[in-house]
Amino acid sequence: MPEVTKEVLDLSAYKGVWVFLEQVGGEAAPVSWELLGVGRKLAQDLGVELGGALLGYGVEHLAQEAFAHGADIVYLMDDPILKNYRTDPYARGMINLIRKHRPEIVLMGATTLGRDLSGVVATELETGLTADCTMLEIDPEKKLLKQTRPAFGGNIMATILTKDRRPQMATVRPRVMPMPARISGRTGRLVKEELGVQEEDVLTKVLELVKEPGKAVYLDKAEIIVSGGRGLGEKANFALIEELAQALGGTVGASRAAVEAGWISADHQVGQTGTTVRPKIYFAIGISGAIQHLVGMQTSDVIVAINKDPDAAIFKVATYGIVGDLMKIVPALTREFKKRLGTTGA
Ligand SMILES: Cc1cc2nc3c(=O)[nH]c(=O)nc-3n(C[C@H](O)[C@H](O)[C@H](O)COP(=O)(O)OP(=O)(O)OC[C@H]3O[C@@H](n4cnc5c(N)ncnc54)[C@H](O)[C@@H]3O)c2cc1C
Repeated sequence: MPEVTKEVLDLSAYKGVWVFLEQVGGEAAPVSWELLGVGRKLAQDLGVELGGALLGYGVEHLAQEAFAHGADIVYLMDDPILKNYRTDPYARGMINLIRKHRPEIVLMGATTLGRDLSGVVATELETGLTADCTMLEIDPEKKLLKQTRPAFGGNIMATILTKDRRPQMATVRPRVMPMPARISGRTGRLVKEELGVQEEDVLTKVLELVKEPGKAVYLDKAEIIVSGGRGLGEKANFALIEELAQALGGTVGASRAAVEAGWISADHQVGQTGTTVRPKIYFAIGISGAIQHLVGMQTSDVIVAINKDPDAAIFKVATYGIVGDLMKIVPALTREFKKRLGTTGA
């Protein structure tokens, strides 16, 4: 086999924690601010600055928002070529910025866009990338980024280090990290950079933007989620979940077992292979609490679990647990919520 020799990097030349500030049409993806929250802590532990990489067209107003959410410095590439997301110019822009300013850590949201971009950037820079991290910390001795994520179907948590490549890159799903407090009036430094790409060099052209019709399930933004699992027994009973969700003005969620049974569509699935959620209230009804479900909802503010098995794992993460038959409990709750919320006019 031919010997592969890799350039040895001068690791000390890389400094600072960066967050890719994702936006679409000038509107920031909330995960960008969530990442600034965790990035602030990492930067503090390393004694370095927190930077934001902002690419787009007509997006300078978002720099101020980034400062308000904790960034010390924003690197802005504002160019008509970056109006709509295309892998090539965005990747070129990010790679140019990273090569020039050499951050030691780069975080991106594990969104459709972030997943696409991060892979290309990491490949081009020949560095490591840990996808879907659930915890990010600095090793106090080695000063490396500890990137923790579920592995082997969620049965273990793996902590991954990028020891001798830079930057250390990780993606995090929306809602996994808490939203930091917004400090209005907080300022920082804005550094404007040229994209350095010509339209003729970009092979992909955006002809039209088409909104996907009927996609109305936004679990990651929901404040109240009522989820049902296999314990419902059959498709018809899933109506109990829908009625409770309706009474509370909430969104319907589901375990994978319920989705696989065909009781509800896959865009309602919560968990490792579904959506990660962080609502104010999460109802887990007839859901056992498998680790792959828990990783997607356990950081909800309040968790109400209803299960007939007192030993179900879901009770370990529940704020309130109701042991009993969901067929009796759920209609009673729906009735009572309807009555109380109805009388208060909510
Ligand atoms: C790689 C991989 C990825 C996965 N990703 C996901 C994911 O994203 N999301 C996800 O949810 N799962 C995921 N899973 C599947 C996961 O391991 C579990 O199989 C699944 O979460 C189980 O769903 P459940 O809790 O609805 O069903 P079960 O585990 O069968 O639990 C049903 C529960 O209902 C209770 N029950 C039954 N009847 C009643 C009643 N009348 N009243 C009250 N309680 C009752 C039972 O006591 C039981 O606790 C994944 C698995 C793998 C291997």
